[in-house]
This record gives sequence, structure tokens and C-alpha cells, in this order.
Amino acid sequence: MLAQVVRASVFTRLECANASVRRENEYYYKTICDREYFKETRVLGAYNFFQKRFSETLRLITRNTWKAERKTALLQMSLNLASFAGMAVSSYMLFTATLSGEISAGTFAAVYSALGTVFSIMENIVTTHLGNMNKDMGKAANFIRVMDMPERTGAGGSVDLSKGIAVENIRFTYPGGERPSIEDVSLTIADGETIAIVGENGAGKSTLVRLLIGVYRPQTGRVTVGGLDTAKIAPGCVFKHTSAVFQKYQRYKMTLKENIAISDAESAVDETKMDASLKDIGAELETGWDTMLSPEFGGIDLSGGQWQHIAIARGLYRTHGFIILDEPTSSIDPVEETRIYQQFKQISVGKCAVIVTHRLGSAKLANRIIVMDKGKIVAAGTHDDLLLQSEKYFKMWEAQAKWYKNETE
Ligand code: ATP
Repeated sequence: MLAQVVRASVFTRLECANASVRRENEYYYKTICDREYFKETRVLGAYNFFQKRFSETLRLITRNTWKAERKTALLQMSLNLASFAGMAVSSYMLFTATLSGEISAGTFAAVYSALGTVFSIMENIVTTHLGNMNKDMGKAANFIRVMDMPERTGAGGSVDLSKGIAVENIRFTYPGGERPSIEDVSLTIADGETIAIVGENGAGKSTLVRLLIGVYRPQTGRVTVGGLDTAKIAPGCVFKHTSAVFQKYQRYKMTLKENIAISDAESAVDETKMDASLKDIGAELETGWDTMLSPEFGGIDLSGGQWQHIAIARGLYRTHGFIILDEPTSSIDPVEETRIYQQFKQISVGKCAVIVTHRLGSAKLANRIIVMDKGKIVAAGTHDDLLLQSEKYFKMWEAQAKWYKNETE
């Protein structure tokens, strides 16, 4: 039992030490074997690179495990020797008692065999059963630690979007981040207003969106959605009114119907609404509602643009008063994109809407455009205002427009 107690503590420590390297190892495995990665890995000739990393991390895990096994096996062996000595002493005592006539030969045989049975049952219970339980103690301890982390809760409350959305002097730095990703940002979105957020890569657009819907809470300042402070209410209060299409959307390995109606998947799915949400964005999919969208599960796959259509339809299917489109059309051709945004303009009437986009032509549809740079809002206004007032916006516009103009223009 002592050996098993020590073993539990050694393996719990080993689990903590190995956890991050095992995650790395699993990731490298994915880069060389997973369907999502392997085409790019092989075409770019990166197979050997990842395979080497995979082997290195596997070697490290094996070495750590070997050290822990050796340590506990040595202890186990010395304790087994002690048990053996105990068994030998008992046998000797029985033997001498039999020789001196204290006990009969029959008693000797019965006690000797009972002793052996007890030792072997004890060993089986302690080593096999307790040992197996102990082996996974580390994983269980880590799991319990995660489950014990405080959940982000907050008061309930009813979001009234007619009060709009207000952002007051917020600042947000990612854990481990060197500088704030959002700094001194203030903004209001009135009921029924559509705003577009534009800016270069890394300007803080997506981070601001996550702060607006309460996925993150600002470290200073506050965000109020429909009159409620997102730092004080439970996140679900805002999510209930939000429909979001994120930059990194999911391609669920499920049927077309489930992919679109995922927010209603457990209750009655409204096929008319599903049809309407696909039509609203002009998607023409020749795919039945029950077609499985995953070759792994015996279904079919779609093109990147078709998947993006589905992600947008999924967002529109959900009942919403606050709509977020975070760069949702990057795989969709420009003609289709313009049509989607025109449709979006109609859908968003009377709702609070935020579009994050790099294409300034699409941003023009918004009532107001916000220009971000290095985590700050550097300009805001309509497209025409910004062309006159913001050098940054003008340069961005000019850089994009020149692709579509001929030189004489
Ligand atoms: P893009 O146009 O490229 O999508 P963005 O304007 O949406 O960029 P964000 O994704 O908001 O920019 O990122 C803003 C800054 O925050 C960047 O400097 C980025 O490195 C950092 N950042 C983003 N996500 C994280 C994260 N999960 N952890 C740490 N830093 C992050």
C-alpha cells in the first residue's frame, strides 16, 4: 500500500509535468495525420519537420514516464522484498512450531496455504486494483482542478436592446499579452444602427467584438448591452439576444439541417425559417436537408464559400436583436459578397448590427464606420466623411480602389 501511495503521488506529478508536452505531441500528430492539416503539411514539404517535433515530444514523454516508473518500481521491489522476508519469517516460525510438536503437520499445511492465499489476495487487491486506480489519479486531479475553477457567473437580467449598446473607456489585455489589445475605446451603437469596424490586421476588431457580446470582460471601463453591464450579468443574458458569425466559424460534421438549426436542434426545427435564412443570403445549395456534411461520416463535403454561406445562414436562423458578422465573407466571391451585404442591410433593419470587414466597399453599407488602429478607434463617421477626415481610411480606400480602376481614371 505504501508503494501504491508513493506511486500515486509520483504519477500525479508526472501528469502535471507531461500535460503541456502531451498537448504539443497530440498537436504534431494532428499536423501530420489529420485531414484538416495533412494536405498542406505534405504539399509544403513540412512532413519531416512536424514528424521530428512529434518524435522529440514523444521521446520526452517516454523519458519522463520511464523515470517515474523506475523510481516507483525500485520502491515496489524493496517493499516486495520486505513482504518476502515477512513470509519467510512466518514460514520459519510455522516450521519450528511443527518440528517442536507445538502444531500438527496438518495445521502447518493449512496455515501455510492460508497465509499464501492471504498474501496473494492482498497483493492482487493492492497492486492490481489500487495500482490501476492510482495510475489515472493525475488525470483525475487535473480534471477536478479545472472543474473547481470559478465559473463566470453573474446576475440574471433582461437585455432591452432599444437602449442600444455603450462602450465606455475600455481597456483589454489578453492573459500574457505585452500590450493592451484594446485601449481607451468608447463607442455607442444605437437601436437599429449598423456599424462597420475596419482596420489593419491585428488592429483589435475581433477583440472589440468579443467584448461587445460579453465573451470577454474589459479590465477597465465598461460595456453595457441593452442597459446591462456585461461584467455584472451572466454571459447568457447577452448571448440570448445575439446572433454571431465569427471569423473562425465551425464546419459541423452533421446534416445540413443540423448545421443551420443548431440553436434549435433539440426542439422543433422550423424548416421554413431555415429555407428563408438560406434564401436571404442567396445560397443555392443542391443539398437535401438531411445530407450529412462530412465525408468521414458517409456524407459529402462543400466548398469553402458554401460552408461560409451555411455559417451565415446559421447566424440568421437564430432569433436575434444584436447581429455580429466578423469577416464572414472572406471565401465568397465579390459579387456574391455584395449581394450578401445588401441582404444583410435589409435583415438588420431595426436591430443593432456590427460588421467587421476588410473590404471597404462593404463597409459603406453601414450607418457608421469605425476605423481601428493598434487597439484604438482613430476615426468614425460615414464613408464620405472618413475619406475627407481620416488619412488612414483614405489610404486604405485608395489601396483597395486602385485594383478596380484603370490607370487613366
Ligand atoms: P484581423 O483583421 O487580422 O482579424 P483584428 O483586428 O481582428 O485582426 P484581433 O484579433 O482583435 O485583431 O487582435 C488584436 C491583438 O490581440 C493582436 O495583436 C493579437 O496578437 C492579439 N490577440 C488576439 N487574440 C489573442 C489571444 N487569444 N491571446 C493573446 N493575444 C491575442
